[in-house]
Amino acid sequence: MQWKEQLLTLTPYQPGRPIESVKREYGLEHIVKLASNENPFGASPKAVSALKDAAVNFAIYPDGYATRLREAMCEFLNVDENQLIFGNGADNLIQIVSRSFLVPGKNTVMANPTFSQYKHNAIIEGAEIREVPLVDGQHDLDSMRSAIDENTAVVWVCSPNNPTGIHISRDKLVSFLDNVPKETLVVIDDAYHDYVVADDFYDAVEFAKKHSNVIVLRTFSKIYGLSSLRVGYGVAHQDIIRALEPVREPFNVNTFGQIAAMAALEDGAYVEECRQKNRDGIAQFEQFCKEKQLGYYPSQANFILIDFGTSGDEVFQYLLQRGYIVRSGNALGFPTSVRVTVGSTEENNGVIEVMKQYLQEKASISQ
Ligand SMILES: *Cc1c(COP(=O)(O)O)cnc(C)c1O
Repeated sequence: MQWKEQLLTLTPYQPGRPIESVKREYGLEHIVKLASNENPFGASPKAVSALKDAAVNFAIYPDGYATRLREAMCEFLNVDENQLIFGNGADNLIQIVSRSFLVPGKNTVMANPTFSQYKHNAIIEGAEIREVPLVDGQHDLDSMRSAIDENTAVVWVCSPNNPTGIHISRDKLVSFLDNVPKETLVVIDDAYHDYVVADDFYDAVEFAKKHSNVIVLRTFSKIYGLSSLRVGYGVAHQDIIRALEPVREPFNVNTFGQIAAMAALEDGAYVEECRQKNRDGIAQFEQFCKEKQLGYYPSQANFILIDFGTSGDEVFQYLLQRGYIVRSGNALGFPTSVRVTVGSTEENNGVIEVMKQYLQEKASISQ
């Protein structure tokens, strides 16, 4: 078989273990999943009721233009119809961008560690990958700029960065965008923008309006709590959108996703409430880290990377057996850390208790 050779170097995405199988294996009644940065409070109630009320004919394809969602989105963002593209989640848009821009002979620049899908898709397309190490959990934009040459088709900027939760300040991003050659596409992955409270954050859509080589990717999976329905969107200059559109599958955003996303967009109060509760949760984890003198990155997102100074896999396993599913930092480029999604106050207290127990056992073993 004449595979693209590089496919043999890839492994499929490792989904978290199904909750039911974890329950059975460890005899647990209750499992808390804090592994995929989902909203612990669920979907916006407006989205839920819109879905309940929707009269959908299952036999009919979705609206491939997402007309009503598009109209709502245009108003929400103050952009034109032709400045938007929709995806089956933002992941789908990462794939569309990669497929449209990356070929052998071109290169792509990204931070390391960052969201894994950029590299994964670049490998599939056979492009050269230039990874620029984070500095203090933050994108090193000067070095990223230096890594760009005339063959750089795409540069990926994830802010707040997954898995560190560190955002880029407005000033730094503005000067980066002013310095990137116009022939290079800058992708700003804005998946967590609604969680950010820092004063020096920006409105990435303004950058997409100003620069003809910028695309902003967003998702309904995170603060809007619609991960299961798979809706994401990109905002860019109409010439970029026009180039990407033929690569998009015609019916990539399903009918339920379109209905729910439209309703969720109307629920600004819910977003505000979740943002606030998330900050309270981050404060719980930060206090724990300070108390136990554990390293952590001050996150602006809905997760926190905590450095236990031991094996992240071991901490992960300890928590798993006691009913908390988190992500080991091992697979994320931080082998001594775990990444924990912020849950409800009660869930946070629960996982912090088990982490304390872990530290205590560890300390008593080493004595
Ligand atoms: C979760 C996430 C996405 C993708 O989310 P979708 O569910 O595919 O919309 C994209 N980028 C980052 C950084 C993420 O964390």
